Amino acid sequence: MNVVARHVVRTGTHEADQQGLAQWQAWAAAQGLTMYATPLPQGGFQVDLVAAAAPGMPAAPTAYAAPASAALVNPYAPPHAQGVAQMAPACCQGCGHPKPTKHLTFRQNIGLVVLRIPSTAEGYFGRSCASSYFWRMTGISALFGWWGVISFFYTLVTIPANVAQYVSSRGLPEE
Ligand SMILES: [Zn+2]
Repeated sequence: MNVVARHVVRTGTHEADQQGLAQWQAWAAAQGLTMYATPLPQGGFQVDLVAAAAPGMPAAPTAYAAPASAALVNPYAPPHAQGVAQMAPACCQGCGHPKPTKHLTFRQNIGLVVLRIPSTAEGYFGRSCASSYFWRMTGISALFGWWGVISFFYTLVTIPANVAQYVSSRGLPEE
């Protein structure tokens, strides 16, 4: 098996993870690659893209082991985020496409007076996914975030935090 690329899909929400995996799957299929998704203990999935051996050709005697610090590291990630422990993919974790990304966190809160439903989208996102997470999660929070004492203060803090994340994502190149 030749591992061509390895990425981590970890968005913070199960649905978005599944969406990311589906997009990787489609992308891998289009490239003639096989995708393996391994659930990670800290959440999310490790995605390995494996090239099928060409028919009639013997498999390489030693499996290709990608160097931990070269191809797998996002060149756009800040240096402290590089390395094996926190593998920064060179692909957007929102849509799975290879593109410049930035580590961003968007939060959403729905206040239900006595309880609240918080959710977080955290990962390396490209410009367009950052924008869509920002508008969706901030919009829902602005409508439904205020109903409850804890929710009120939580939303008061998270909306400006989302705006700050959005503003920093505008430094990414246009797609
Ligand atoms: Zn994206």
